[in-house]
Amino acid sequence: MTTRSRAVVLEEFGRPLQLREFDVPDPGEMSAVVRVGYAGVCGTDVHLRAGKLPVPTPVVLGHEAVGQVSALGKGLTHDVLGNPLHEGDWVSWLNNVACGRCRFCLVEHQPTLCTGNRKIYGINQSSDAWPHLSGGWSDYIYLQPGTVLVKMPEVATPQQVISLGCAGPTAVHGVLDEVRVRFGDTVVVQGSGPVGLASAMYAQLAGAAQVIVVGGPAARLELTEQLGIGHHHLDIFEVTDPAERVEQVRRRTDGNAGADVVIEATGAPSAVAEAIEYARPDGSISVVGQYTDHGTTPINPHLITRKNLNISGSWGFGARHYIGYVSSLPQLLERFDLGRLVSEYPLTDANSAIDDVKAGAVLKAVLRVSDE
Ligand SMILES: [Zn+2]
Ligand SMILES: [Zn+2]
Repeated sequence: MTTRSRAVVLEEFGRPLQLREFDVPDPGEMSAVVRVGYAGVCGTDVHLRAGKLPVPTPVVLGHEAVGQVSALGKGLTHDVLGNPLHEGDWVSWLNNVACGRCRFCLVEHQPTLCTGNRKIYGINQSSDAWPHLSGGWSDYIYLQPGTVLVKMPEVATPQQVISLGCAGPTAVHGVLDEVRVRFGDTVVVQGSGPVGLASAMYAQLAGAAQVIVVGGPAARLELTEQLGIGHHHLDIFEVTDPAERVEQVRRRTDGNAGADVVIEATGAPSAVAEAIEYARPDGSISVVGQYTDHGTTPINPHLITRKNLNISGSWGFGARHYIGYVSSLPQLLERFDLGRLVSEYPLTDANSAIDDVKAGAVLKAVLRVSDE
């Protein structure tokens, strides 16, 4: 008998998502069918439902998920790190499959800039096309050949693995790959959403002496503080003048010189101008938050030259960053109670979950699909 799968489908932009049913295909060569346990909801899903991104519809949403192997196709015997795979194993996977043929895949080794046909689960694979189940907000997902599949570390529960969702690997890329945090550094993190918090945690793991989180609102900063994320917290709703914020941050640095590293994770263009002010001479700035194009902003480019600043961008994450995230979970969990970031919803409440993320009412919304 064919197994059926419920799936949350975006059929029409700006309209509520629909719960539909599909047949679960048997996995072909080097493919896998995974029974989803938990799936994350992120800011991108808010934009997708609203129709702000050019994606095909209908589409099963869900680009962050963890689950148990339901069936393995011929030839798929091990995860990407060489661990044997069996039915029932808890696994996670990189949500995108780059083409492997273009200049950015083959020459520059920057697969997130792939100009080929990069598949992204839960975003650009229409559910009208085979294998239909290409998103994580679904009882089952079909993982195609080339998917970077990794077994979950035993010390981490599925809820903990999904707690940072795509923010975890995004921060690995922006904080550990694009800039270097050194022992004793002062790091400013702008933004207290999932990417900001993940960035602050990685800066702490990397040896920063003090991490200053500039974000808000107050309740969010309070939880952040309780979890030990960041050493100082500056509420932008309380200190509304950017010049005053710069002053307060600089006062916490040696000789009032500014921060060694600034991580921008806000998505607000004006934050970049502020980052340039926070950084010390010869400091580094990583701009990871500007996922959506919110237009231009005035900056003083003289400061970039005058201070000899190192500014880098990072777009999404590839296999190295994803594996970095999963492999660092034991270290993250030793220090931070990641489960407390999560608010759970049943799969059937996907619309409310998106509403709550949009309203900033929850830090990390997670859909509970199945858990056995
Ligand atoms: Zn996301
Ligand atoms: Zn490519």
